[in-house]
Amino acid sequence: MSFSVDYLSEYYFLGRLFILNEFLYEWLFYMNFNKEYIDWLRKLLLRWNYFYYINNNPEVSDVVYDNTMKELCDLENKYLGCVSVRSPTQLIGGTLNTTFKKLRHLSPMLSLDNIFEKSEFLSFDKRLRVMLVDEVRISYCCELKLDGLAVNLVYKNGVFVSAATRGDGIYGEDITSNVRTISTIPSKFKITNNISFPDILEIRGEVFMLDIDFIALNEYLIKQGKKSFSNSRNAASGSLRQLNSAITAKRQLSFFCYGFGCVQGGNFPKQHWDRLQYCKFLGMPVSDYTRLCQNSGEVLQYYNDVQKMRSVLGFRIDGVVIKVNDISLQKKLGYSFKAPRWAIACKFPSKQKISKLYSVDFQVGRTGILTPVARIEQVLLSGVKISNVSLYNINEIQRLDLMIGDIVVICRIGDVIPRIIEVVKSYRKFNVVQPIKFPNYCPVCNTKIYRVVQQAVLRCHAGLFCSAQRKRSIQHFAARKAMNIVGLGSSLIDQLIENRLVYTPADLFYLNESQLLNLNNVGIKVVSNLLRSLNRAKCTTFSRFLYSLGIYKVGIVHAINLAIFYGTMDRLVNADIASLMRVQNIGRVVAGYVYRFFREQYNLKIVKELLSSSIGIYWLEVAPLSLHTNNIHSVFFGKNIVFTGSLSICSRRDVEDKLLLFGAQIHNNISSKTDLLIVGQSAGSKLQKAIQMNIKIMEEMELLNLLKIN
Ligand code: NAD
Repeated sequence: MSFSVDYLSEYYFLGRLFILNEFLYEWLFYMNFNKEYIDWLRKLLLRWNYFYYINNNPEVSDVVYDNTMKELCDLENKYLGCVSVRSPTQLIGGTLNTTFKKLRHLSPMLSLDNIFEKSEFLSFDKRLRVMLVDEVRISYCCELKLDGLAVNLVYKNGVFVSAATRGDGIYGEDITSNVRTISTIPSKFKITNNISFPDILEIRGEVFMLDIDFIALNEYLIKQGKKSFSNSRNAASGSLRQLNSAITAKRQLSFFCYGFGCVQGGNFPKQHWDRLQYCKFLGMPVSDYTRLCQNSGEVLQYYNDVQKMRSVLGFRIDGVVIKVNDISLQKKLGYSFKAPRWAIACKFPSKQKISKLYSVDFQVGRTGILTPVARIEQVLLSGVKISNVSLYNINEIQRLDLMIGDIVVICRIGDVIPRIIEVVKSYRKFNVVQPIKFPNYCPVCNTKIYRVVQQAVLRCHAGLFCSAQRKRSIQHFAARKAMNIVGLGSSLIDQLIENRLVYTPADLFYLNESQLLNLNNVGIKVVSNLLRSLNRAKCTTFSRFLYSLGIYKVGIVHAINLAIFYGTMDRLVNADIASLMRVQNIGRVVAGYVYRFFREQYNLKIVKELLSSSIGIYWLEVAPLSLHTNNIHSVFFGKNIVFTGSLSICSRRDVEDKLLLFGAQIHNNISSKTDLLIVGQSAGSKLQKAIQMNIKIMEEMELLNLLKIN
């Protein structure tokens, strides 16, 4: 996205007003605003460079940096006259830390051009063919793009003499004594019989940190009360660029060689791949994940393969680097001011995206809690369009110091749930922002909102008076883990509530065909499926029924424990707090919520109605565990059970629930560990297998009888 600045349009307006020609109009635009904006972007990027390259403590994430750099490049390209040699777009890396001695590289150490889509590699390949006129086939050496710190090692007559950071590409920081502490970097080349090497050789590579070493270092720093590193790249850079090499020596740093600078005298292969293999013989660490590819198809395959194994490498990479293998072709292609033309970094798609916060809405949940939801400019992240991001609670808004109009960084936690992880506050200078207002009244029913004391929670206490809470409680009642009413989706629930056909879960069971057919987009098939599903849902389990009631803080695990402990609704309804606190995992707080739920006449009425003969919800009675010492007396306790065929009396899931309550484990496949196969109608191959393996077999009726007496 580009960070458009609305008030600029005034200059366009002015331009039109004075009927300036296209050039003047552009010029005016640049002079009046873009110059100021471009200068500001430059200063911002230089500042970020400083924090990244010198302090090893970036102020913003890479995605923000890259986005801003792209914006600056685009503006500089558009207004060609404004490119300056001091612009960060023209710099390689950052400035040098003057506390280190400066070392001049024997040949410049450049950066790499980047692409972000593998399809862009095909254009790169095509471009090279055009430049190399006669070349029909180009082979590529493909390497991991290691995420660490580039270093230049100088070997004279096979002996390590100096090391420097990349610095500004011409000069680097002298880190020779620190590099000497990295045990895998040889102090002299390994010399075997037939091997000779250049008199002077600049070896380029990356110093990085393995994930395990990074975790160990951070644990150590935290124990020492020191600041930990935010990622392994910063840790590697911070560890290597130490003024005291004794500190570097204590840090576990790794190194892979991937390139060469000055090569003088002696023998050295004429292909990049061969050079790397040669260096291996000399004792240099070279990654085994490097691959020689003969065509672009093989390169794309390499990219796919690396992307798949990325998470198991044990160190961070951020893409692959693709290099023309033939050194003579590399020479023909040459260099741009910043990067070689014969290599390209193909970066993996970022797991983060930049967006803009438009507004924050507050959604009312089943229990009346208001959840702030950020409405953002739509972004595509890992193939999913994201425009809404939950902010959890008001603490999160305060922690992020989030404001409407802010530029934000979005990621997906666990690759699923979108989250705002960063607010780019620098952009507030050019973006109009305003504070987020917390509501005083429920956005749905207009009841006064209370802030739960000592918690970051806003809550509407209107209960089922609030239609939002009614909708959510019906949704919860019908959910798969609860009563499992198939076909009762959220849009149908919305209509049922808005048309006042349903107020409590009990009302669902009185719905008839003609009422449902009157709703929008509801046809006869939907109706008959729903009515059938409502009927089927009446056979359930005690724990599911309890869970479906939506007692505050009672999730499925608490519901199972309560069901196991009390066995019947009557015993549970009459339980006092002391008794409830004897249930596994239930403490005073949850016991209090359960106790109070059943003291409410309104709740009791609904429960009674659901279980009455007019609705008829039922479950197979399970004797309460409080009557046994515990469930180890059950014949199913600790047994590995497999099902085959369909059950005809109760649903398989309900029977499974019950077996789980008795301490059984349910598996999908027969194995030597299987104790019991439950057989329903049209049993499959599992039955044959169980007979062959002499596994006990039980039919549905026998099982249900046992479940009753267990
Ligand atoms: P780069 O990281 O995009 O690519 C060049 C570098 O790749 C080389 O210098 C080398 O260190 C490394 N590399 C890894 N494996 C390699 C291989 N097999 N062959 C060759 N090189 C290999 O470019 P850069 O100029 O080093 O850094 C720019 C990037 O750094 C930006 O895109 C940004 O993401 C990040 N950055 C972030 C901030 C921030 O504040 N977050 C600031 C500055 C830079």
